[in-house]
Amino acid sequence: MSISVVIPLYNEEGNVKRLYGELISALSHSDGNYEIIFVNDGSKDKTPEILREVASNDKRVRVLNLAKNFGQSAAFQAGFDKCTNEIIVTMDGDLQNDPADILELVKHLEETKADAVVGWRKNRKDPLFTKKIPSFFANKMISLFLNLKIHDTGCSMKAFRIEVLEEVRLYGEMHRFIPYLISAKGFSVTEVPVSHRKRFKEKSKYGLGRTFKVFLDMMTVKFLNEFSTNPIYVMGGISVFTFILSLAGFALLIFMKVFMNVDMTGNPLLIISVFLFMISIQMLMLGLISEIQIRTYFETAKKDIYKVRDSINVDGE
Ligand code: UDP
Ligand code: MG
Repeated sequence: MSISVVIPLYNEEGNVKRLYGELISALSHSDGNYEIIFVNDGSKDKTPEILREVASNDKRVRVLNLAKNFGQSAAFQAGFDKCTNEIIVTMDGDLQNDPADILELVKHLEETKADAVVGWRKNRKDPLFTKKIPSFFANKMISLFLNLKIHDTGCSMKAFRIEVLEEVRLYGEMHRFIPYLISAKGFSVTEVPVSHRKRFKEKSKYGLGRTFKVFLDMMTVKFLNEFSTNPIYVMGGISVFTFILSLAGFALLIFMKVFMNVDMTGNPLLIISVFLFMISIQMLMLGLISEIQIRTYFETAKKDIYKVRDSINVDGE
């Protein structure tokens, strides 16, 4: 099995050499058919120089220098676009993931015949309040909301069959949701515990603000995947809900007028009900417009709304 290891790096000068050393010793147990793709995501320190030096001595090391800091997802995507091998392994470049796990993941992929395997940092070595606690809740929320049976979607240590990655394009900070994006397309995803270490050089690139972004990203992927073919179900749902609320408001308004002698124009319920009614109409219209857009999109981009795994006696196969 040929392996491509894709590693994004942003200001990791203190880690590159040791990372390379650990990669080489871990991959020496493979059949030698591998490449390492370092994606320098616009580092402002000595990372590019050190990468150049490493690559000049080893033909299996490839380096992509991005024009500026595009973020981890873009860096992963840039790496994927250059991969040609059968299995792609991703990991962080700060040595928190252990290169020794690479072949474990590949082995697991081969044995289980799964399409992707995700690492699970069972014993995570990160600060409690800024990383472990928010990540615990984020992972719980993701697995409930997205119905994904994976404990640690945020772990960068993952392995994929190349066909799988050809089906996804990453935007924003979507790399965390690759397990969901691919399982939503019908690929099988499993998980395996991996080791995790303290960051001993350079700083983490993320703070608490990430939790908020992860939440928004979760809504986006859910919407794009489950409702992108039927946006009316979301907008129409909100429309029906606000319509019922407005009807209830109007009914209460009339009740108060007739039985309690409360003046309608002086009652704030009137404005609330009118607003709810208007929101309901607008949501319905928005839903219908989205339906037209989605149809145009699927027709013009010739996007399939399904995926066939394999077939028998079809198209001369
Ligand atoms: N990274 C990147 N671009 C960015 C931010 C991070 O390529 O804009 C890389 C970073 O160099 C590291 C990996 O992504 O190799 C994970 O980042 P970090 O260790 O800061 O995340 P944490 O482990 O704190 O979640
Ligand atoms: Mg890290």
